[in-house]
Amino acid sequence: MFLYLTDEQEKLRSDVTSFVEKKVKPVAFELDEKCKFPVELFREIGERGWFKFNVPKKYGGLGKSTVNLFIVFSEIAKGLASLSVSLDTQYLLMEALNLYGSDYLKEKYIPSLVKGEIIAAFALTEKTAGSDIGGITGTAKKDGNEYVLNGEKRIVVSGTVADIYLVFLKTDPTKGAKGLSAFIVERNMEGVSVEPLNSSGLRACGLGKLVLNDVRVPLENLVGSEGEGAKIALSVLDFGRIGIASIAYGIAQAAFEAAVEYAKERKQFNTPISSFQGLRWMLAELAVEIEAAKLLILEAAAMRDKGLRYTKEAAMAKLYSSKVAVKAALTAIQVFGHYGYLKDKPLERYLRDAKGLEIAEGTSEIQKLVIARQIFS
Ligand SMILES: Cc1cc2nc3c(=O)[nH]c(=O)nc-3n(C[C@H](O)[C@H](O)[C@H](O)COP(=O)(O)OP(=O)(O)OC[C@H]3O[C@@H](n4cnc5c(N)ncnc54)[C@H](O)[C@@H]3O)c2cc1C
Repeated sequence: MFLYLTDEQEKLRSDVTSFVEKKVKPVAFELDEKCKFPVELFREIGERGWFKFNVPKKYGGLGKSTVNLFIVFSEIAKGLASLSVSLDTQYLLMEALNLYGSDYLKEKYIPSLVKGEIIAAFALTEKTAGSDIGGITGTAKKDGNEYVLNGEKRIVVSGTVADIYLVFLKTDPTKGAKGLSAFIVERNMEGVSVEPLNSSGLRACGLGKLVLNDVRVPLENLVGSEGEGAKIALSVLDFGRIGIASIAYGIAQAAFEAAVEYAKERKQFNTPISSFQGLRWMLAELAVEIEAAKLLILEAAAMRDKGLRYTKEAAMAKLYSSKVAVKAALTAIQVFGHYGYLKDKPLERYLRDAKGLEIAEGTSEIQKLVIARQIFS
């Protein structure tokens, strides 16, 4: 199935799979049920070196390999998508710092992020500004050698447990998206508070609200230049979308594998339900779609690793894979009949988690907008 992976990548895949089987799957139900972020698992992922891909060697990374990220994100998502979503966010932060941060910020934060010693979150969305980030109302005002930050950010992955946040605020409120700038905010700064959110899916990724009340950060905490916030957000989201697509692929694959196994075992009318054409066609169609999703992701990942522009391909991969993940979860529930509808099977969680991926990091409608913009540019 993964013929084109190198031996090293196959080894990575088998290491991640065994970690998921031993450590993630046994606790996934409870973490989801209790909305608990698995800090220990997150740290172990850092210790195992799975935050090193795409990070320069100078800061403790291994250099570019987005295909490796696909392997890590998708395999972990088979056990618990929430955990994978937090990894994606950790990578978003490292990408932003790496591309736009000063040497000071890179040296201060990337080595600890790579080791998973600190947890990062990305805070863009506000109550009145989601798809339209130009509508952000949170502000950053220069005062001597500091910025004073105020605002409220919604639905932030890893928000309840993060040590640092990349926060997007207006340095020039008259300018829409062009007035946005990005700042590093530390959790323990005065005026920072977080509140958990009770979501329907991705419940173990620490979704939270971040409130900034007259938070003072040094000028050095500005990432890039004033006014570059939208550019930073959009370029790192291209990368993040490959991650979200990979997580969706993992969920789809897990749902599909469960459905196939069950269809072989379950008997009705004295025969395995896998013998019924109605189910066979359903699963055959799904198998094609999951393969197609994988190829879209790998295409986007390969383009990124070759240094090519991959905005359109990442949006296509995210749009399609999240749709396939929702369909796979629904199909699996249908194949399992009433068993699929009960909470003790992970199928209903797959559905709740997959649905979140059609919204996070740009809704499906916004992905179509991005794709169309690239087609007509
Ligand atoms: C699980 C999850 C995790 C998230 N994690 C983070 C995070 O870590 N950090 C963060 O900052 N944000 C995060 N978000 C927020 C996410 O990025 C936003 O939810 C998303 O960008 C959409 O914004 P919105 O929810 O305000 O919807 P809106 O922008 O209000 O959109 C509402 C509806 O209108 C549609 N719509 C909007 N504009 C257009 C248009 N131009 N054309 C067609 N249709 C349109 C949308 O597709 C949607 O269906 C997360 C969301 C979820 C669900």
